[in-house]
Amino acid sequence: MAANPYPPKCERWRVRTGLTRIATSDPFIPSLVNTGRELVLFDTGNGALQREPEARRGRLPEGLLVEQLRQAVYEPQDVDVVVVTHGHPDHIGGLMKGGEPAFPNARYVFGATEFDFWKRSNVRDARKFNRELFMKIAVPFADRASFIKAGDEVVPGIQAVDAAGHSPE
Ligand SMILES: [Zn+2]
Repeated sequence: MAANPYPPKCERWRVRTGLTRIATSDPFIPSLVNTGRELVLFDTGNGALQREPEARRGRLPEGLLVEQLRQAVYEPQDVDVVVVTHGHPDHIGGLMKGGEPAFPNARYVFGATEFDFWKRSNVRDARKFNRELFMKIAVPFADRASFIKAGDEVVPGIQAVDAAGHSPE
């Protein structure tokens, strides 16, 4: 719809196009897969980014992942593997909580190309905040992570597919 939309801009667009508020809602829902051997979480949502003193404070909705995990009768420490599909804030925002790993017993899986992209220092200006966030809350997991490419096994029974385009960017 729009890059970095602000609510007033979205509202003007919504009114102009005649859409209802429900039609313009864009929730992002991380996926949890129990393989029978491991509990695998794909992405972590916004987490506490709304509350923490970040450049995006107040611009992102509250992440509800941990609360919703509990509704599914899981605790954060039950998660065995966190798979980060890409490095945008709404996918990595819940990796840490209060500076500590939100999923303390997990190992991590990143796409190698994606991880390398965000570690580079030459991202475009519009993505500088994203890079700083990635360096702060995703890179610290490198020593507990594996880095995969298309065709690799994410976990037994789940294979990585190259879907680049939306990111890295
Ligand atoms: Zn994204």
